[in-house]
Amino acid sequence: MNKPIILITVERINLAAKADEVQMVLAGCPLDYPRAVEAAGGVPLLLPPSITSRATLEAAARSAQGVLLTGGGDVAPLTYGADPLPPVGLTDPERDAIEIDLVSLAETLGRPLLGICRGLQLINVALGGTLIQDIPTQVPGAIQHRGRALDKTPIHAARIEPGTKLEAVLETSELHVNSNHHQAAADVARGLRVSATARDGVIEGLEAVGDGRRILAVQWHPEETAARDRASAALFRWLIAEALS
Ligand code: MN
Repeated sequence: MNKPIILITVERINLAAKADEVQMVLAGCPLDYPRAVEAAGGVPLLLPPSITSRATLEAAARSAQGVLLTGGGDVAPLTYGADPLPPVGLTDPERDAIEIDLVSLAETLGRPLLGICRGLQLINVALGGTLIQDIPTQVPGAIQHRGRALDKTPIHAARIEPGTKLEAVLETSELHVNSNHHQAAADVARGLRVSATARDGVIEGLEAVGDGRRILAVQWHPEETAARDRASAALFRWLIAEALS
């Protein structure tokens, strides 16, 4: 069987310099992401957050059949026209810019996109939406979205919107999900629709509307449970099936 190449975005990891060592800047992501892509039938290919030229990025997007936008740090608020509130952590505007270009290239080239956690937020910003910068201080009555279980099992419920692509992929209208985020989509970009919400109203899923557009994004972490949970694996199987079609 044909195995599609899936570009996986990764984050910059800045190791604090020790007194007697040169500072090292690494790039990487949790291995759960490439593992889940391979288990679903794809070839994972990590894309560093250091690409400087759009031509390089376009060549990478052309050589791959699908794109996975992974989790990581906060999207820089200026990217969506906001000033940062105090709870916003260290940002990486260079990574933001590369991934925003990648979203537009993927759409232009017709490559399917799966966004996870920060990936959902990045897709929303790339297409013109905005973010809640900090759920605990900005969403009255919010539930705990950052309380992960030690074994990465679900901690809160998500309602899947009827009639969405996400519902068709997951084959359920309610799901229990893991959760490790303090930001969320606020204004939803034109061309996207909400596909899942938590009971406090926080957006847990977005997807593209419109003919031929293939974007699914979730705020939870299916890569952590894909090896043992059917609904988690289904998202990666969707990406691979779309990449092959
Ligand atoms: Mn959540």
